[in-house]
Amino acid sequence: MDWTERVTAGEWPLRTAVDAVLSVVLAPSCAACDALLDRPTRGPVCERCWESVRPLTPPLCDRCGDPLPTWRSISIPLARCPRCRRAGRLVDRARAIGPYDGALRAIVHAMKYEGRRSLARPLGALMRHRGADVLHNARCVVPVPLHSSRRRERGFNQAADLARHLGLPVVAALQRVRATPTQTGLPAAQRHRNMREAFGLTRAGATLAGVTVVLVDDVSTTGATLEACARVLREAGVAQVRALTAARVVSPPQ
Ligand SMILES: [Zn+2]
Ligand SMILES: [Zn+2]
Repeated sequence: MDWTERVTAGEWPLRTAVDAVLSVVLAPSCAACDALLDRPTRGPVCERCWESVRPLTPPLCDRCGDPLPTWRSISIPLARCPRCRRAGRLVDRARAIGPYDGALRAIVHAMKYEGRRSLARPLGALMRHRGADVLHNARCVVPVPLHSSRRRERGFNQAADLARHLGLPVVAALQRVRATPTQTGLPAAQRHRNMREAFGLTRAGATLAGVTVVLVDDVSTTGATLEACARVLREAGVAQVRALTAARVVSPPQ
């Protein structure tokens, strides 16, 4: 182990010295809350922000991962939310680190819009931890693709960055075949319609018949994107499609 590895592994007092120098000379601030970082070698987000990333409160819908009212799940082993009981879902099980708010939202924003790609590693570690049941026994992870024009603009696909840190082979099974207008602010039904024909299978995707795969994205909003991706994969013969995202927008209770 050379000294730089010791520094980044936190095993040497030098790291403290490097932190002290960096925090004075560069005065870097937390990418999520703007507070000055006193340990910049540990990454662009402060410890307080990481500690405040909370999980979704169980019990959760067995399928989509939305929190359920506690009374509902007492006697039902496979609890499902009203939406999942009403509509057939192609994603068998979806989970996230936590709700898309507070520090988690700020961290995802920093990764996606400010190009802080190094955040994919700690986010991926949290996804592995809180989504362990989703990853269990899956063959591979499949990042939700960006349309090539969006990817060119941003320079990277945040879903692919996250997928690399989940401990399973990454298969680029999907491609965007149609650019979709930004979905922000649109109602769920409209999002589902817009997404329906947005994705196609790649050559790599054609090899996944009969296996269980995990779709990976940064945020699940209405689940429209994940469902559209799952449709393509199921049509290609994938046995089971699960989903793991960094964050989830919790649907209002019904
Ligand atoms: Zn912070
Ligand atoms: Zn549900």
